[in-house]
Amino acid sequence: MTEVECVTCGQKGEAITDMLFLGKLESEVKSKVCKPCWKKWEGMRVMVINEYQINLGDESGRDLVRKQMKAFLKLGEEEPTDTTKLDQNYRPPTG
Ligand SMILES: [Zn+2]
Repeated sequence: MTEVECVTCGQKGEAITDMLFLGKLESEVKSKVCKPCWKKWEGMRVMVINEYQINLGDESGRDLVRKQMKAFLKLGEEEPTDTTKLDQNYRPPTG
């Protein structure tokens, strides 16, 4: 069994072996997040999508899910995950 040092729960845990279809984030998630934490996010993702009424057919919808995922899994290092700040800095795409 492969183990990862999980940034989400701070413990060593079983590595994710399933295909996650995350593109660029796939290897990052798999190297930093344990399987139980990923399972928690999968449950949370459903709630997030319902809560924000996210349309996964939209790039902006997928982007929001990605942000929520990084915040939940504590992966966020490239941008602040504090949602109030996100709101302030958010510029809707024009055109
Ligand atoms: Zn974990």
